[in-house]
Amino acid sequence: MEDCLFCKFVKGEIPVNKVFENEDFIVIRDINPQCANHFLAIPKTHYKYLGEMTETESKTLARILSTIPELKNELSLEGGYRLVINQGDDAGQTVPHLHIHVLSGEKMGWNPAGRE
Ligand code: AMP
Ligand code: ZN
Repeated sequence: MEDCLFCKFVKGEIPVNKVFENEDFIVIRDINPQCANHFLAIPKTHYKYLGEMTETESKTLARILSTIPELKNELSLEGGYRLVINQGDDAGQTVPHLHIHVLSGEKMGWNPAGRE
């Protein structure tokens, strides 16, 4: 997908510090962290919504989800962690390439919808 920031990270067209990479996905640090540690797990193929996934992509996402807990040290997951996938405008999705926010490293409140 041309003009997709995350595709450019995946392809190496824009250099980015990768915390982890395998054949399925890369992990980078979020530029605007919302937690002590805030990573983005980015599948290597481009799609915006869970509902658009091909069967292969959904198997890949399942592998990604089971790999994340293996990255205990790299992502500082010891004390617990939270995964977030924003989908569409109401959720505040700003990058149209599906990604999983991985938040860790501190005790979190519960206000994912932004309520005070
Ligand atoms: P979302 O709002 O769920 O689409 O998440 C997009 C995330 O990408 C936001 O948390 C941004 O802070 C993050 N982001 C945008 N540009 C960059 C960048 N150049 N490097 C790292 N993270 C970025
Ligand atoms: Zn993309």
